[in-house]
Amino acid sequence: MILAVYPGSFDPVTCGHVDIALRAAAIFDRLILAVYDAPAKNVLFTTDERVAMARKAVEGVANLEVRKYSGLTVRYCREVGAQVIVRGLRAVSDFEIEIQMSTLNRKMAPELDVVCLMSSEQHSFLSSSVVKEIARLGGPIDGLVPPHVAEALREKYRRGGDGPGIPRYLSS
Ligand code: ADP
Repeated sequence: MILAVYPGSFDPVTCGHVDIALRAAAIFDRLILAVYDAPAKNVLFTTDERVAMARKAVEGVANLEVRKYSGLTVRYCREVGAQVIVRGLRAVSDFEIEIQMSTLNRKMAPELDVVCLMSSEQHSFLSSSVVKEIARLGGPIDGLVPPHVAEALREKYRRGGDGPGIPRYLSS
């Protein structure tokens, strides 16, 4: 039984993330999409919001569950008994980050392997930050994120983007 963990910020989950998650779930016996609760970058959505959106995006896939985690990814993987970390690769810039991270992770947890899935063509230019920027400027985000995520983004920016990463004085 191979359990894989797909970790990330998922702020918010995009169609690119969903594509990687579904493809990984088809390869491994079980997959946990693990939402990191304290990314170094500013987040727009709270951890619970990010988890709820990701959960709804993949609901109905029997061997795929969404959970939140904190602390080191390798420690979390050990806790749940995972053998594999899944990551998605879009461009060479992703590769540089992934190879650095996987080398460090390998030092801490040699028993864990990283499996990178290549982005599907239609998602190769898609990132959570690009989607947030388009949404912030009132542009069309349908098709880039699941419909409930598009609605949550529109709602967030309608209310002035008062997420945890944006200073409140800017939203008044
Ligand atoms: P992180 O904060 O760890 O970079 P993200 O939530 O941005 O997490 O992304 C999680 C993982 O999904 C990363 O491996 C990232 O490269 C990958 N990913 C993000 N967007 C896409 C996409 N459009 N296609 C394929 N993989 C993607």
